[in-house]
Amino acid sequence: MNKELKREVDKRRTFGIISHPDAGKTTLTEKLLLYGGAIQMAGSVKSRKAARHATSDWMAMEQERGISVTSSVMKFEYNGYEINLLDTPGHQDFSEDTYRVLTAVDSGLLVIDVAKGVETQTLKLMDVCRLRNTPILTFINKLDREGLDPFAVMADIEERLKIECAPLTWPIGMGSNFKGTWNLYKNELHLFSAVHGGKRQKGDVFKDPNDPRLDEILGEQVHQLREELELLQGAGNPFNLERYRKGEQTPVFFGSAINNFGVQEMLDSFVELAPPPQPRPTTTRDVSPYEDDFSGVVFKIQANMDKNHRDRIAFMRICSGKFTRGMKVKHHRVGKDFTIANATIFMAQDRTGVEEAYPGDIIGIHNHGTIKIGDTFTDKEPLKFVGIPSFSPEHFRRVQLRDPMKRKQLQKGLEQLAEEGAVQLFRPIANSDYILGAVGLLQFDVIVHRLLHEYAVNALYEPVSVTTARWIHSEDKRALDDFSDYYRSDLAIDAEDCLAYLAPNPWKLESAIERFPKIVFSTTREIS
Ligand code: GDP
Repeated sequence: MNKELKREVDKRRTFGIISHPDAGKTTLTEKLLLYGGAIQMAGSVKSRKAARHATSDWMAMEQERGISVTSSVMKFEYNGYEINLLDTPGHQDFSEDTYRVLTAVDSGLLVIDVAKGVETQTLKLMDVCRLRNTPILTFINKLDREGLDPFAVMADIEERLKIECAPLTWPIGMGSNFKGTWNLYKNELHLFSAVHGGKRQKGDVFKDPNDPRLDEILGEQVHQLREELELLQGAGNPFNLERYRKGEQTPVFFGSAINNFGVQEMLDSFVELAPPPQPRPTTTRDVSPYEDDFSGVVFKIQANMDKNHRDRIAFMRICSGKFTRGMKVKHHRVGKDFTIANATIFMAQDRTGVEEAYPGDIIGIHNHGTIKIGDTFTDKEPLKFVGIPSFSPEHFRRVQLRDPMKRKQLQKGLEQLAEEGAVQLFRPIANSDYILGAVGLLQFDVIVHRLLHEYAVNALYEPVSVTTARWIHSEDKRALDDFSDYYRSDLAIDAEDCLAYLAPNPWKLESAIERFPKIVFSTTREIS
């Protein structure tokens, strides 16, 4: 095995944050970047978010594109590790991209607001992680505020996210009584003090929970701590690396992102425990990151909104081998050679002129629409990576052209936007409508804007009585025919000619599933 490659792979950690809006993702990201020395970047995360809060106007967001490309991948170095933090957009620009980014990471960091417990968006994002049993580390945030009992938060995670919790730190009080955390595997106390301005913070260290000095510092609360530690020792789940790596157990940390408390402890454990780049499946075999031959897969496309430059950036995760700028690779879907000259290599701010990248790293390739989501590039072997799916949309609109003469443009525009992964396109079998599907509502604003400016299509986007979609398969041709006859008016073909059932409501979907047990209803579809 190539020693240099092995060293580079082993020190990489590529992850995404899973959280519900307002749990503290942005705040925590800033603190993490601070540890990586990318302070400039930390500022830009905040200003990007501030600008976004100020307006939900798409045009304004367009102006932020420059920032949003660079903050899609935040790369930093910490303790000798090369960390790629992939942004999982939330809030208004929550879209299918948010889901798809999670298929390109090796692990996830779950952020939970201690006052709220598990929230809806967290549930959805965890479903995506479960597709690949992605290991998840948990940070329970905002301990400086009153919240739920820590045992209750863990029970909530276990019950609703179906993952066992193994606390590695334990909070002492919360809100105005928050005194700090006890590190369960190092047996150390970290005393809390609120800091402002995001300075690094390390608590005082005590080695024994029975240390009499703790009685003085913690007062009455020391009894509760000792009791809880005993309880955890008896009834808690001991941390098990293997189970974490299989996605069955999540190590849990408590802290306060805004006070930068508990963040470094979590980060120190994260780099040690989280897996380095993992092998990835293709249609023919698993590809190990340690293989010398280069391979990569595209998981996200970002369009440049300037209509004069219809260029796009394809985000490629390197899966094996070493990338060097200007290298020639094969673009397998189109069967052509491709020289990756015009690539953005995402790196920490202070290192410019980087010409190489390794498995786990993300590169951005400029192109004019030749690259699609799911495309595989290698230097020799024809491969096709799998596991970068389309996700069942949750919002739907019917497109009504204002000018019927523009039908061709509409078709072309929608097909291209669907290829890019910006929206999903369904053509009902029973009529000639165009139905758009999206995971987040803002996706429609983007589509309207782009169809108008890039394809000169002026259209109306009407609500339609579809609440969810499922892709349909069956081994049994007869069952498929019967199903198709029965539900003809609710069936559609998507942009890749796959059959989908557009359910008018959840009850109808349930009854369809009951009525046709031989039909498989999928919430995801592999991109071919
Ligand atoms: P995001 O929507 O998940 O990115 O969340 P933000 O990082 O923007 O945080 C949402 C709100 O919670 C902001 O007002 C933050 O200042 C606040 N916040 C974040 N972390 C903490 C914390 O540890 N304690 C308290 N009290 N507030 C926090």
